[in-house]
Amino acid sequence: MKKIIAANWKNNGSKEFIKNYFDYFAKNLNNTNKNEIIFFPPDLYMDQIDKYSKKLNFSLGGQNFTSSGDDFTLTGGTSSKMFIDNGCSHILIGHSEMRLYGFDTYTPANLLCFTRDHLQAILCVGEDHNDKKNNHTSEKISKQLKDLYENEFIPKKVIIAYEPVWAIGSGKIPTLDNISFIHRFIKNNILEKLPSLKEKDIMVLYGGSVNLKNAKDILSAPHVDGVLIGGASLEVKEFTSICNLKI
Ligand code: PEP
Repeated sequence: MKKIIAANWKNNGSKEFIKNYFDYFAKNLNNTNKNEIIFFPPDLYMDQIDKYSKKLNFSLGGQNFTSSGDDFTLTGGTSSKMFIDNGCSHILIGHSEMRLYGFDTYTPANLLCFTRDHLQAILCVGEDHNDKKNNHTSEKISKQLKDLYENEFIPKKVIIAYEPVWAIGSGKIPTLDNISFIHRFIKNNILEKLPSLKEKDIMVLYGGSVNLKNAKDILSAPHVDGVLIGGASLEVKEFTSICNLKI
């Protein structure tokens, strides 16, 4: 099964940065593994990046969603239809930074909206340092997955990003055994609660301090269907080399 290699640019980038980035990417991308590459740039640069997406065969996603746009008005809001209109097929939701600063829009109503609008959500889950210390990782993740099961429409495909909060930007990662164990736990949890889904309908990505040194091992670990990369995705040489890995 091909893997997902996703770049979470957060609030980074500029028109010049993007031009230089994709000049290099276009010349050096050699994705023989046929992995699915997804860029999550800031909303303002979506259109500029979409211009490269067809030629270089990558997908685009929004980093956060603020309003369905149908039933209420919200100053500063972006609707799922607007993301689609700008070339997006995916949307990140529940990222720990959004949860931390209160911008989280991970709700059953929004999940319903994505399902209706055919925007594939990538739900971020993961324990923080305290959860880890107190052995509450599985409990925390079960709680975070709950909204998925309160959805009126059952999604046809579920993508989860397992991102331990303590690993994000820290240079530390769980052991490969731990990553595999948690990914299996997430898949079992979803299969139990949404029995109409098959194992092939569920993908679990790992995120948190992925870089060129550890990407191949992580991507080769059992039950890992891809990676979500923050800091290292801004380094075009490093990110291109990760996309070119043969797994
Ligand atoms: C992230 O914040 O989604 C992330 C994975 O960041 P980093 O790769 O920089 O740890």
